[in-house]
Amino acid sequence: MANGGFLLVLSGPSGSGKGTVSEALMKKNEEIRYSTSVTTRKPRPGEVNGENYFFATKEEFEDMVKKDELLEHAFVHTNYYGTPKRFVFDEIDRGEIVLLEIDVQGALQVKEKYKEAVFIFLLPPSMDELLNRIRKRGTESEEDIETRFSNAFKEIDFVGEYDYFVVNDSVDNAVTDIENIIAAEKLRVKRHSDVKELVIKPKED
Ligand code: 5GP
Repeated sequence: MANGGFLLVLSGPSGSGKGTVSEALMKKNEEIRYSTSVTTRKPRPGEVNGENYFFATKEEFEDMVKKDELLEHAFVHTNYYGTPKRFVFDEIDRGEIVLLEIDVQGALQVKEKYKEAVFIFLLPPSMDELLNRIRKRGTESEEDIETRFSNAFKEIDFVGEYDYFVVNDSVDNAVTDIENIIAAEKLRVKRHSDVKELVIKPKED
């Protein structure tokens, strides 16, 4: 039965600012639950296991896939990434909004399995700005930067699969856009078991 909980899928190329935007979004909206992904990528300086990601070996990751513990998984850039299924559905069942920050391949898998999700694509203001942002991060090798930049063009090709786009010209604007999307999605009739009941109370004998 619909209880108001739903899944929010946020994608966008590397450097579009997904991480910064979702962090700012969650700071302002404590009710949003972030789904921590599993990855075989090595932690970047400052990243914490269980917080930014669950860091796993390739064998551990393959084991999770085999046991059907992931809602979706994909090979992104040069590593595996996946979404643990249990957390997502437990939280939605409790009526929470769950945020997934995943790539296009993963989002398409979620769309196949769970159409009720809301799909948002985060765009950079321009491709030049995107390249600047990837370089400025300074955590990737030149080869990695090139992979991420050329993958960005391929990812943006999929924007038509999403419900909404948000341009990240400033973090504040992007957060406000996403908050507005959430506000509208909360009012979808299908997300409530009985809207009439909100105003028409059953007559007491
Ligand atoms: P990064 O290595 O920069 O943290 O992430 C690289 C890419 O992997 C980003 O586009 C990010 O959204 C994506 N990603 C992170 N977690 C997941 C996941 O669980 N599933 C999929 N499909 N992509 C993910």
